[in-house]
Amino acid sequence: MLSISPISAFSDNYIWCVARHGEAIIVDPGDAAPVLQYLKEMDLKLSAIIITHHHYDHVNGIELLCEHYPNIPVYGPENQCKGISHRLKHNDRITLLDHSFQVLAVPGHTLDHIAYYLENAPSAPVIFCGDTLFAGGCGRLFEGTPEQMLSSLGLIQALPGNTAVYCAHEYTLNNLRFARAVEPDNRELLIRFEEAQAQRDDNIPTVPSKLALELLTNPFLRTDNTDVQERVAAHAGLKYWNDNDIFANLRAWKDNF
Ligand SMILES: [Zn+2]
Repeated sequence: MLSISPISAFSDNYIWCVARHGEAIIVDPGDAAPVLQYLKEMDLKLSAIIITHHHYDHVNGIELLCEHYPNIPVYGPENQCKGISHRLKHNDRITLLDHSFQVLAVPGHTLDHIAYYLENAPSAPVIFCGDTLFAGGCGRLFEGTPEQMLSSLGLIQALPGNTAVYCAHEYTLNNLRFARAVEPDNRELLIRFEEAQAQRDDNIPTVPSKLALELLTNPFLRTDNTDVQERVAAHAGLKYWNDNDIFANLRAWKDNF
C-alpha cells in the first residue's frame, strides 16, 4: 500500500512523500532539511526524487538530499536545472515503488512543467501536478501562454473524476475567495469554502482535493460554463469571446485580485 504525506516547507509549500515498505520517493524537494527530518522520524529510505518544474521552491533541496542518498535517480523535465539525472517528456512512464507513473507535459506556469499521474494507485488515481492545477485555482503564467495553460488543464480535466489532486501549495482559501467573486451563486463552491475554512482553522491541509470537486468549483476548469463566461466578460468588458479569451481574462482578474 502506498502512503502519501505532506512535508511542509517555506510558508505554504507541500513537498509530497510517497512511501511503501520503508522506501520513499519525494516530489519537488524545494528544501532538504524538513525532508531529511521527516525521513528520519518515519524511518524511511529515500530511493528517488521526482521534479515537476524548475522553480527554486521545487528543486533547491536536490543537491543536499543526493549528498545524503548518493546515486538515487532524480527524474524531471528537460530544463537547465542541475541534479536531474533522468529527463522526461510527455507520455513517458517510470516505475517507482512498484507503481507506474505516467508523465504529462503541462506547460503554462513554466514551459518545462510536467505532472506525474498514477492511474493504479491503491484507492484512486493520483496526480502530482506541482504549480499547474491548485485546489480551487491554477498557477500563474510565468512562461507559457493562456492557450498552453488551458490545454494543459484540459489534459488534467480529462482524467477520472475520483483522481486525487496533489498540488504543491496551500493556496486554497485564497483561491476559493476569488472563485466566489467569479461565481457568487455556485452552491458547491460556497460549501467547499466553508469546509476549507474549517480545515485551515484546525491547521489541516486542504490538499489533496478530488478532481470532480475541482470541476464543480474551480473557475479555471469552468471556462466553458456560461455563467463563468458572462461574469468574466462583464469584468473584462468583452463583447465577443472564445474559451482562450475567457481563460486569459480570468487569469488576469485573479492576478490583480
Ligand atoms: Zn512554480
